[in-house]
This record gives sequence, structure tokens and C-alpha cells, in this order.
Amino acid sequence: MKIVVLMKEVPDTYGERKLNLETGLAERSDSEAVLDEIGERALELALSLAGSLDSPEITVVSMTPESATTTLRKALAMGADKLVHIADEKLVGADLGLTAEVLAAAIRRTGFDLVIAGNLSTDGQGGVIPAMLAELLGVPHASSLTSVEVSAERVHGTRETDGGIMEVAAALPAVISITERFPAGRFPNFKGIMAAKKKPVEKLTAADLEVDPEALDVPRSIMLAVSERPARSAGMKIVDEGDAGEKLAEFLIQNRLA
Ligand SMILES: Cc1cc2nc3c(=O)[nH]c(=O)nc-3n(C[C@H](O)[C@H](O)[C@H](O)COP(=O)(O)OP(=O)(O)OC[C@H]3O[C@@H](n4cnc5c(N)ncnc54)[C@H](O)[C@@H]3O)c2cc1C
Repeated sequence: MKIVVLMKEVPDTYGERKLNLETGLAERSDSEAVLDEIGERALELALSLAGSLDSPEITVVSMTPESATTTLRKALAMGADKLVHIADEKLVGADLGLTAEVLAAAIRRTGFDLVIAGNLSTDGQGGVIPAMLAELLGVPHASSLTSVEVSAERVHGTRETDGGIMEVAAALPAVISITERFPAGRFPNFKGIMAAKKKPVEKLTAADLEVDPEALDVPRSIMLAVSERPARSAGMKIVDEGDAGEKLAEFLIQNRLA
């Protein structure tokens, strides 16, 4: 079974993260680059499923800057079989539609039975790439799963919402996205790190995938402006001296919240 895991390189989740106010892109030089934790969880799931599947092959696909190869190698050290790295300066500032188009082309080229993605990246936080991919690939999508089981023909899983737990299933090939309820990725051991050096890494550009980032006949969104988030101001505290209700109503009216 061919499993594709989608992973991004992101600025360290625990460090200070900043946007470049001119380009709107993440300021990568300000913090250490790491694999997105949700992507590591997706890979961990693929590795745990592999044991019970026939001829499993795990390919990590990533569209990230050229410099990310070192970070991405960690995925090979964790146990992925292959890495497909799409790195192209023409993709800087790609919107969600273009990203999905590029990833779908790379996944089609690799071949797949199951695509596993995170439900939301920690930097872009668009949360729509997996659904867009399923649409472009013409396969079912099971989103935000909190548990997953896979057989040769189907993927089963659960989705938790505020209202309850849903059980979902889809025929393969399919795209699934998972939440942070899945276990964190394993630490690569020495054997894994050494083995990773010999594993195949394929580098691709948009042209290799026959995607034109500058095409004018495709709808794309553009960022018009970016500004720093305003600093949080202290909230208003109402102490009840018999008139708290009045004060609260006044506050709501003043702030057009009522
Ligand atoms: C040169 C270059 C520079 C880039 N710079 C930035 C940047 O500064 N900030 C930024 O947010 N993005 C950057 N990207 C990546 C890309 O543009 C975004 O990943 C894309 O817009 C997806 O948005 P999202 O993370 O909000 O998606 P979401 O829908 O939140 O992602 C959900 C899941 O989809 C998968 N996924 C999403 N994007 C990718 C990807 N690129 N590769 C593999 N799997 C993916 C992951 O499994 C992720 O957990 C860059 C890409 C390139 C090639």
C-alpha cells in the first residue's frame, strides 16, 4: 500500500514567531526551522499502520523552501521510505489553491492509496489543503480524524465534535486529515539517522509537475497588506456594587456588542 504523508517545515512552534511585514511570509531567520508537529503525528500514524499492511511504502511529500531538505531528512530518519521535496522560488507566497495544485500533481506522480495530512498547520493555519487535495485528486476526504484504521480497501476513523463522536469510512484511495489527538512523532534513533542517508530524495520544481505559478487564467488569491496584530489590551473588570447589570449593558452598547 502506498501511503503519502504531507509534512511542512515551520518556524519553531515554541520560539517567537514573526511575519515579515513586507512579504507577509514567515520570518524564517528569526527562529529554528522544525518539522510541523502535526505532520510528525501524521507520519507516526503511517508508521504504526505500516506493520499491518501489505507491502507498505511511505513517501513524505513537502512543498517548502530549498533550505528545508535538512529538516525534512528527519522524516526519513523516523522511518519514511522516500522524500519528494518540491522547492521552487516561483512558489514563494503560493496561496492555498496553488499549494494544493502543486501537492496534488506531486501525489499523482508518486501514486497513492492513502494520503495523510494534518488538519491545520501551525504557521499558515489555512486548514483547507487536505479538502482541496481530495477534490483535485477526485477521491473521498475524511477530515479531522481522532482515530484511524486501514484495511486493503477502506479507511475507517472517528471525528470528535462538541456534539459527539462520528464514525466515518471511505473507500481507498482517499485523503484523510488528523488532529493533535494522535501521538507525537517518535525520536529518530542512530540506526534510523544512518539509514536516512541512503534513502531516496527527489527534488522537483513546479515545471517538473507541469504547474505554472504565473498562469493568468487560474483564480488565485493575493495578499494585499499585512500588519502586526495589535497588542492585547487589559480587559474591563466590572465589580458588582448593585449596578453590575447596568454597567455590563452600557459596555455592550458602547462596543456595539448588543
Ligand atoms: C519557497 C516557499 C516558501 C514558503 N513560505 C511559507 C511561509 O512563509 N509561510 C507559510 O505558511 N507557508 C509557506 N510556504 C508553504 C505554502 O505556501 C503553504 O504551506 C500553503 O499556503 C498551505 O497553507 P497552510 O499551511 O495554511 O495549510 P493547512 O491547510 O493549514 O495545512 C493542513 C495540512 O496540509 C499539509 N500541507 C499544507 N501545506 C503543505 C506544504 N506546503 N507541503 C506539504 N504539506 C502541506 C500538512 O499536512 C498540513 O498539516 C512556502 C512554500 C515555499 C515553496
